[in-house]
Amino acid sequence: MTNEITGKTKLLGVIGHPVEHSLSPVMHNAVIAQLELDYIYLPFPIEPQNLEVAIAGFAAVGVVGFSVTIPHKQAIIPLLSEITPLAQTIGAVNTVSRQNHKWVGTNTDVEGFIAPLQTTYKQDWSPKVAVILGNGGAARAVVAGCTQLGFAQIHVVGRNMQRLQEFRNSWSNSSLADKFQVHQWEELPKLIPQANLLVNTTPIGMYPKVDESPLSVEEIVNLPTGAIAYDLIYIPKPTQFLQQAEKQGAIVIDGLEMLVQQGVAALKIWLQQEIVPVEVMRQALQNHLGLGK
Ligand code: NAP
Repeated sequence: MTNEITGKTKLLGVIGHPVEHSLSPVMHNAVIAQLELDYIYLPFPIEPQNLEVAIAGFAAVGVVGFSVTIPHKQAIIPLLSEITPLAQTIGAVNTVSRQNHKWVGTNTDVEGFIAPLQTTYKQDWSPKVAVILGNGGAARAVVAGCTQLGFAQIHVVGRNMQRLQEFRNSWSNSSLADKFQVHQWEELPKLIPQANLLVNTTPIGMYPKVDESPLSVEEIVNLPTGAIAYDLIYIPKPTQFLQQAEKQGAIVIDGLEMLVQQGVAALKIWLQQEIVPVEVMRQALQNHLGLGK
């Protein structure tokens, strides 16, 4: 439970539509309770046509900061006074804070995505090859993350050539130019054997379609032993894709840690403190999802 709410309690929250399944209130309110902070984090269901008036209302009532989820991650940008260069590169904002009476947006998904690759699975990524399935919003954070880590090659695989080309062109001014290629799904068999990191950013395999996988059994057998398979999906845990990859001898990472770590990064911004209790957030989510420790 959160602490007593008074006239001084500061407001945080998440905007989305729908937002009722968001896990963010669970993990943020767990920290608020643990640290006995005078904050509360609420879900705000906001329809797209009400976004502008809602953000003006947030300023009027003194909201300190908020998370942004589907469908507002791009639409929020023109309503902000500033966005960080990283959010600009990705073209999406997932975290907003009130600074000097202005709304400032950033994107913590990149930090969330790379966290397990920088800690538990840390290695020299400079000779390595990343293969990314999907070319939507989350794939943009993954490409930015792989760039930060210094991958030698980044291959993005999608099903629609026009959207793939648009994705490719949106990075044309970045330092990525020579390392980054887009491919249609048919090219996967030639890419899988080269992959040191294989990331699923599509919703294939997400609850309730838990028996689906973005890869066939014939495709996954060519994943090199010791490669890392990373699924951004966190329900189910593990997905069919990760089960297949693990059988193949891959190291597997599911999306729960990314969810926790992007939340950690957001909370650091709102509270303006460097240390937040990560384990409290992780445990709150695991308890909520019935995953135990
Ligand atoms: P999105 O913008 O809608 O992108 C989804 C991508 O998947 C698109 O490129 C889409 O292709 C592709 N796709 C969808 N269905 C497909 C299919 N049947 N076959 C092949 N490709 C398919 O969604 P998003 O925001 O990137 O989110 C993607 C996933 O990441 C979701 O499962 C989300 O829950 C997860 N996620 C997790 C975290 C975390 O913290 N763990 C954070 C963000 C997102 P088209 O472009 O051709 O439509």
